[in-house]
Amino acid sequence: MNDTTATGAVTLVGAGPGDPELLTLKAVRALQAATLVLADDLVGDEVLALASPRARIVHVGKRGGCRSTPQAFIEKLMISAAREGEQVVRLKGGDPFVFGRGGEEVERLRAAGVPVAVVNGITAGLAAVTSLGVPLTHREHAQGVVFVTGHPRRGGEGPDWHSLAQAARQSRLTLVIYMGVRGVAAIQQQLLAALPAETPAAVVQRASLPGQRHAVTTLGELAATIEREQLASPSVIVVGDVLRGVAAVRAQPARTRAG
Ligand code: SAH
Repeated sequence: MNDTTATGAVTLVGAGPGDPELLTLKAVRALQAATLVLADDLVGDEVLALASPRARIVHVGKRGGCRSTPQAFIEKLMISAAREGEQVVRLKGGDPFVFGRGGEEVERLRAAGVPVAVVNGITAGLAAVTSLGVPLTHREHAQGVVFVTGHPRRGGEGPDWHSLAQAARQSRLTLVIYMGVRGVAAIQQQLLAALPAETPAAVVQRASLPGQRHAVTTLGELAATIEREQLASPSVIVVGDVLRGVAAVRAQPARTRAG
């Protein structure tokens, strides 16, 4: 601890789904005030270009095929930099508090006595659904939304897909599945236990970024569509009747965003 302790701080900033125009003004201000930026994998160069030229930018993702920086190391780095008086921005894809381990980071920082603030970002699921021109909720089709991860914590249990499917059916909920592409066959099988095979489904890869692709299909055809169209991470899977608003709901080939 030293005199500068009080001046350093950490801000967890949501970088949004990729398009820099989807950043909040608060996010841009935090980037301009930062002296150190710790950037996740999914954060693109156009967003990083908005950081102050005097800021050091450290990539803590899996860029270049390297293993991602261990979480404990990132947390230690944030704590020691803030204690040295740095204005640290921890830049995370989407929203920092949606599947971004932002909650864990905030707990560690608070426990270390480091001032911490959080700036929301547009979460990928929201951008993905909007890019299809349909809403997440709709008075006719969906009374709510479930954001759920398809990738359980190592050694832990994943979501109870059967119960989720039942809830989605009974309460008319849109399911928005992050990190679900790899395990889609099992997810599809379990959802089908309670949802009809004709339930509309969609996959959006790289929402809001150049090279965005999507396919609209049905729950019964979901895994086959992903395989055929070679849709891969980062992708969001959407299941629910809100997708009835996307033209005709039948297997459509993956489309690339125009422009
Ligand atoms: N905090 C992030 C989510 C981090 S988990 C958020 O709020 O968006 C990483 C997962 O997010 C990816 O595996 C993918 O499912 C999803 N994702 C992130 N960016 C995406 C994008 N541009 N398009 C589609 N999915 C994306």
